Amino acid sequence: MSAADTAPVDDQTRESARLLKRVPGRARPQKEALREFEEGVAQLRQHYDPVFWPLFVPEAKNMFRWRVELECGCTHEVYTHGEDKYPDDRRFPDLISQCRLPSGEFWCTTDHGPAQKPYRDIVEWVDRKVTEFPADPVEPEYDWMDAEDWAKIRKPKPHSSAFWRVKLSCGHYEQVCTDVDWKPEDGPKLVSEERIVEIRRDFEESWAAADNPGWPEKGFERDHIRKMIDLRWPRPEPERDCFTCTQVRRITGYQRIGWLVTRTRTRPAPRPSTNLDREKIEARLAAAEAEVQRLRKQLDNPGNA
Ligand SMILES: [Zn+2]
Ligand SMILES: [Zn+2]
Repeated sequence: MSAADTAPVDDQTRESARLLKRVPGRARPQKEALREFEEGVAQLRQHYDPVFWPLFVPEAKNMFRWRVELECGCTHEVYTHGEDKYPDDRRFPDLISQCRLPSGEFWCTTDHGPAQKPYRDIVEWVDRKVTEFPADPVEPEYDWMDAEDWAKIRKPKPHSSAFWRVKLSCGHYEQVCTDVDWKPEDGPKLVSEERIVEIRRDFEESWAAADNPGWPEKGFERDHIRKMIDLRWPRPEPERDCFTCTQVRRITGYQRIGWLVTRTRTRPAPRPSTNLDREKIEARLAAAEAEVQRLRKQLDNPGNA
């Protein structure tokens, strides 16, 4: 193995260890942590067939407790598989998509107030699920919509849509709806040159009206609309606003708490191989003794051999 092969691993180890620090506050009582962990395990066991438990259900005795500090200043308790793994080696769950977050990120459950969702490029169309819908009702489905507008968008027959799981440039996953027959290799559908002129004019007029700031308001949303107009209104859009980005925070430090289950020093168990060897030797001895007895009998009664 060359030095180049080992360098990234060394860098990664140094990077992880660098975040060890004193995290303010105190750890919860061990009993409380263990009870909560076991409740989580019970839920997982219901979720998976028992043959998969060894793969997907963690065992309390293997878990090591940490306190982590996030960039928002919040502290949370997390587990790693053993004391040699650091919290930023782990990929924590995204609480909405159920996918894994990039390592070094953690979903902060503290309410930090409203945040605008940033738009991110879609880098991968991962998989999709098709959902069937019945025909739309004749009356408008929305209170604020008049019958004329509703008639334009209403689907009078049962229809279906594809819901794609997409990976964004930030490493998070979101959902995007497309027509069922659309495939990523088709690329987005664009509107005509004439239509985009109309769309642009409608938005610009709405935004220019002094008494009406128009939808969407300034900021990410309006920038996004401008970008889509410049791209001739692609469907599906090549970017998506990311809710996860508003919830996750980088891990900025961590401190060890200890094993989730207290480890007691026990005498090493007798090696099972010793017993096994002994049983084998005893069996061979018994067979040898039986053979000796048979030969003896044969000597004593040569005619009965
Ligand atoms: Zn926070
Ligand atoms: Zn994101």
